[in-house]
Amino acid sequence: MQSFLNWSFRLYRLFGIEVRIHWLFPVIAALEILQWSKEEGRADYGAYLMLSLFLSTLIHEYGHCAAARIVGAGADQILLWPLGGLAMVGHSPTNRGEVFVALAGPITGFLACAVCLGVSGVLGEPITWNTFNPFGGKEAWGHSLVQDILKLNLIVNAVNLLTPAFPLDGGRILTGLLVPLLGYARALLTTTLVGIIFGIGLMGSGMYFRAWHPTIFGIWVAVSCVIARMQLKAGAMPEYAYAESFDYRPERPHRPGFFARWRMKREARRRARMAQEERRIREQVDNILDKVKREGMEALTPRERAALNEASKFFRDNEG
Ligand SMILES: [Zn+2]
Repeated sequence: MQSFLNWSFRLYRLFGIEVRIHWLFPVIAALEILQWSKEEGRADYGAYLMLSLFLSTLIHEYGHCAAARIVGAGADQILLWPLGGLAMVGHSPTNRGEVFVALAGPITGFLACAVCLGVSGVLGEPITWNTFNPFGGKEAWGHSLVQDILKLNLIVNAVNLLTPAFPLDGGRILTGLLVPLLGYARALLTTTLVGIIFGIGLMGSGMYFRAWHPTIFGIWVAVSCVIARMQLKAGAMPEYAYAESFDYRPERPHRPGFFARWRMKREARRRARMAQEERRIREQVDNILDKVKREGMEALTPRERAALNEASKFFRDNEG
């Protein structure tokens, strides 16, 4: 698991948060686009869909990161992969903080839905049941990028919020709500049990209705929770239960991000300009003072007096 998650590369770094993307993401995106172009003759619809998935996940994770910073937990990395994202956030000082951070992802996602709805309205796109219904098959997708983002946001965030199991937000929220009642260790164990029951139930009903997405998702949830439960019983924290023990990052030298490098360069240029300006003014002042020594204050031209004033202002403004 650890090494698998390492297969990622950096996209950019902004506000001290590095955004990485898993190699599987472009691979699956390419396959998806290919499939759309083969089956529907619409490669662009497939591209819309993958871009929507990317943006929806990113918005969701930024929600977690912002909340983590608000409660003082810190956040420094987002990893995006086809099944969702992971925000690397620290521990909140309080249990309430943990619940807030877990909730913030879905809440931000739903806010993004509202924004998309507004943008869609402004663009004059028809808003129908299809706008919100992600289960309308291929018919439902591709006609509007904004509405695709809206639909994917609805799915990503509803699934995250409503699945009471690790490693999804619902599981973290449930744990947080149980901690005051059961204590930390038993709250974690209870969540894994709820997750196993939920996953098996989902798998069963998915098979009954011959719906393969919920079936596979149910299996994945149940298996994740069984593994988490075994880890807990063995005295270890599940990797993703709470963020602290979850650190998949390989040791690599830290390189500042694109914007940080740009700011550093700009600052260096500013300093070089200042140093040059300072040298120029000092030289000028020296010459004028020489003249004062030789010929007295009265000999200074108005221009030289102005230069002295300007110099003293410069040194006052840029003291130290
Ligand atoms: Zn989340």
